Amino acid sequence: MATKEYDVLIVGSGHSGGMAANVLTKKGINCLMLNAGPEADYAHDRTAKATHELPFRGFDKPGRLPHVFQANEANAEQWVDEKEVPYTHDPAKPYNWVRVRLLGGRSLFWSRQSFRLSDFEFKAADLEGTGENWPISLADLDPYYSQVEAIFRVTGRKEGWPQFPDGNFVENTGGFGGRGGTSSQTMKLFTELANQRGIGVSVMRSSLGVNGLASSINLLLPDALDTGKLDIVSNAIVREISVDKKTGLVNGTHFVDRHSMREMHVKAKVVVLAAGTLESTRLLLNSGLANSSGVLGHYLHDQIYGVNVVASVPEARDGKAAPGLMGGSAFMPRFRNLKKGEKRDFIKGYCMMVNSGGGASPNHFPLYGEELQKQLDRYAGSCVSGSIYGERPARFENHVRINKDVVDAWGIPVLHVDVKDGDNEHNMAKDAANTLEEIFTAAKWDMVSKTDKFYPPGYSIHEVGTARMGDDPKKNVLNKWNQTHDIKNLLVVDGAAFVTCGWQNPTMTIVALSMRASEHLAEEMKKGNV
Ligand SMILES: Cc1cc2nc3c(=O)[nH]c(=O)nc-3n(C[C@H](O)[C@H](O)[C@H](O)COP(=O)(O)OP(=O)(O)OC[C@H]3O[C@@H](n4cnc5c(N)ncnc54)[C@H](O)[C@@H]3O)c2cc1C
Repeated sequence: MATKEYDVLIVGSGHSGGMAANVLTKKGINCLMLNAGPEADYAHDRTAKATHELPFRGFDKPGRLPHVFQANEANAEQWVDEKEVPYTHDPAKPYNWVRVRLLGGRSLFWSRQSFRLSDFEFKAADLEGTGENWPISLADLDPYYSQVEAIFRVTGRKEGWPQFPDGNFVENTGGFGGRGGTSSQTMKLFTELANQRGIGVSVMRSSLGVNGLASSINLLLPDALDTGKLDIVSNAIVREISVDKKTGLVNGTHFVDRHSMREMHVKAKVVVLAAGTLESTRLLLNSGLANSSGVLGHYLHDQIYGVNVVASVPEARDGKAAPGLMGGSAFMPRFRNLKKGEKRDFIKGYCMMVNSGGGASPNHFPLYGEELQKQLDRYAGSCVSGSIYGERPARFENHVRINKDVVDAWGIPVLHVDVKDGDNEHNMAKDAANTLEEIFTAAKWDMVSKTDKFYPPGYSIHEVGTARMGDDPKKNVLNKWNQTHDIKNLLVVDGAAFVTCGWQNPTMTIVALSMRASEHLAEEMKKGNV
């Protein structure tokens, strides 16, 4: 491998890198994939142990994963150890960066909620009079979304709503992704009251995948490997992209072996970054490349996760719910700011999720011991609860930069993340909490709790932006084909390309963009343009 020159070197093996390998190898292009971590050891990692047998009783060794709220001792090995690969932030500006370096990346663990963006996101600046439009529209991405939805077996209910574009759905015969529905009496009443307020009620859209997995390792990489055109090297941490000084084009990458710490270089005609938004941007910043615009690292954004409103249905308390009263769930895609000139104290929008049939939490009652248990028993199964995902606007000041004073376990400078929420996020969350309370109260359910608080930036695990795409090289890092404006044979095919993220989970868009970019790259390579 050391002397071989590959056509395309792909950094990262998750959804975005997997799709790039899938498309390029099928077109006869020789690819090398470098991945920072090992392959998952399924036999070892899936061994079940009782919590009392774990050294830290389920809480994990302190200091390894302080920002990964999703981590516990049972799943600790799957995440990137923050002592090995730290990042820094001002304590007053918390940021949760949740990473996976196993082969397959986060595609091994994602929750599979699968949405398209709409032109309310692609062309947001036209509607809002602020920010930037994407250089592409839904029509441009539609054929790629359709193919990706077929591969991932996305299920959903078609609604015909412009802010919630329908997809190429497969029928859900009851597997993962079914997630109840709106047929219980409580959900029917909720639907009626929401509709009266102009809020459309649908159901969740999810990737069913195959055999319980919707990852690059089962849906994308096997076909690529079957072509004989893909080599994968695990435990290869790319530290810098190399440049041919004569042409100004990239010609490979320097990487370090995770175990031996040995430094190596590999040659390639094209480098495709798919290291998962912030790692791709870190690599570009550490390489000093693709930043003639000065916007590399900027416009980091994601979704606010939070707001929690809980009500109890009186007829369902004390275990008295009649059959069909409780249960199911409802999904409300964005319903705010869909019309130009809608007067609100926030721009953009949020989606709401409502579930029926849960119980109350101990923190809902100022009680303890036997009294608390009695209340919990009374409320068990009687609650309806709602929460949201809301769009954080992409702002220039929310950015990452290299912290030259801190390096990771392989001596590579780490990222400093500088992100803070603004009034828009807080006003949006207040609107959501009030809306849920208004509907729950109109349903004559008793309010149990209401909070408009939400988690810090990054918690959603949907970080996007920092190398956004756009036609103007002075304001954007990538062109509309995910090539860097500065260097045509250097591409970024992950979430770094996003201009706006919407309320939607990003993965379908990431994979569709990677497919589109890779097809275009293959054509350009065939024509000799790249
Ligand atoms: C628990 C969880 C739930 C989620 N739920 C959803 C959901 O419901 N819907 C949704 O749309 N999204 C969800 N996501 C987010 C989704 O997983 C990501 O958007 C998506 O997987 C990103 O894919 P990626 O290929 O861009 O990055 P990643 O999956 O992060 O892959 C990046 C790869 O790059 C490699 N890498 C990084 N740095 C280097 C380097 N220097 N050298 C070599 N290799 C490197 C890593 O090893 C990794 O394999 C969830 C994520 C998690 C963790």
